[in-house]
Amino acid sequence: MAHDVRTLIAPLKDDDHVVVVGAGLAGWRFVQALRRDGFSGSISLIGDEAHHPYDRPPLSKQVLKGAWEKDKTLLAHASDLDDANVDALFGVSATALDVATTTVSLSDGRVIRGSHVVVASGTRARRLPFSADKEMLALRNLDDVENLLQAVENLAPHTTVVVIGGGFIGAEVATALKTRELSPIVLEVAERPLLNVLGPQVSEWLIGLASDAGIELRCSQNISDVTFEDGLFRVHVGDDVLATPVVVVGAGAMPNTEWLGSSGLDITNGVAVDEFLMATSHVGAIGDVARFKWLHGPFEEMVRIEHWQVANDHAQELAKILIQGSDVAGPVKLVPYFWSDQYGKKIQMLGHPSPSDEVTRVTGSPEEGKWLALFHRSGVITGAVSLNQPRGLILARPLVSEHANIGEALELKPWLA
Ligand SMILES: Cc1cc2nc3c(=O)[nH]c(=O)nc-3n(C[C@H](O)[C@H](O)[C@H](O)COP(=O)(O)OP(=O)(O)OC[C@H]3O[C@@H](n4cnc5c(N)ncnc54)[C@H](O)[C@@H]3O)c2cc1C
Repeated sequence: MAHDVRTLIAPLKDDDHVVVVGAGLAGWRFVQALRRDGFSGSISLIGDEAHHPYDRPPLSKQVLKGAWEKDKTLLAHASDLDDANVDALFGVSATALDVATTTVSLSDGRVIRGSHVVVASGTRARRLPFSADKEMLALRNLDDVENLLQAVENLAPHTTVVVIGGGFIGAEVATALKTRELSPIVLEVAERPLLNVLGPQVSEWLIGLASDAGIELRCSQNISDVTFEDGLFRVHVGDDVLATPVVVVGAGAMPNTEWLGSSGLDITNGVAVDEFLMATSHVGAIGDVARFKWLHGPFEEMVRIEHWQVANDHAQELAKILIQGSDVAGPVKLVPYFWSDQYGKKIQMLGHPSPSDEVTRVTGSPEEGKWLALFHRSGVITGAVSLNQPRGLILARPLVSEHANIGEALELKPWLA
């Protein structure tokens, strides 16, 4: 459990030095927010990728479809880094953290001692223990999308490409490959995609999306091995063998916490932090890597959420907490939000409902190809999820942020306004 530092977070001073590890969305947005909110001390930003900070959602959408050049994903150009007066070290990884002295060791032998350290090292794609582990592709970063584009660019139309995993990334990759006139086959181990994320009912309403988009989705697939020889993969599923020149794995992500192994921090499924996003009085964590204490209405839970909006909101909230001090800023307030463009449809979700929460569909139906549903627990609304109903979802937002009662919501129907 995160260390409770409620009264210990004092406002940053001008001679403080904040060291940010991870130059992705959360790390860069945090740097921007510190400067915007008036911090004039030193900031170091350490990123192990050679690239400037960039945005990941377009990688599996616009970039893979060929609609965007990779440069369009950049969040920070050299001039932005100059303007932020940040000491940026890219292509260098943090290898250890000494919590007592807030000192970060780097892969090039350097050591940076700050007054505060913020962990924003994100997640990486989960690998699968198959023979062709090294040859199978994943999609987490700019180098991955470059490799995938190279692998598919000269394939003949209708070539079979296997996507392992029918979750958000797998579905988006399959959708993008289909627009490139390839024939993706999505292999999902579970009975239905997103079963563990959205629960049994909602995942059932989504089951027809892939076939409607002309994409083959096979569920309950037991893959025993994937081999690679002479440029061809063989995917062994039950008694079948699928031959394909490209296999893409979308099997979830793992938090990048190995570099914190000797720090003494709780790094079980991410860096455990309290409701101020702090693990100790001078070490915080934000974004995909943070397992944070989330207070929402009558509920309190430790969650790690891999959503763009949460990484962005964490960055703003932690900057506020460090600049104002925890007493003034108060604990983190956020309504998680997620979207995914898959099989030609847009799925959006507010909140972070448990798959075991009850679900009530309030508009539309799977047959209409659009709907809005509310999640609720003990009568309290915990989330809203929609398919192609962006306006309804926005109108339902206060129900989630105010932890409204499901019975009252069903009477008032604010999503119809
Ligand atoms: C292909 C793709 C599509 C997505 N689409 C959506 C979407 O549609 N909607 C949505 O809500 N979310 C989406 N997401 C999720 C969203 O992009 C993430 O939630 C967001 O990127 C998290 O930001 P972050 O800064 O916490 O982590 P990251 O973006 O992972 O950044 C962390 C950075 O830290 C670096 N790092 C790791 N270890 C070290 C170290 N030891 N030293 C230095 N640097 C280190 C990493 O290499 C990385 O550059 C998508 C993600 C991917 C990969």
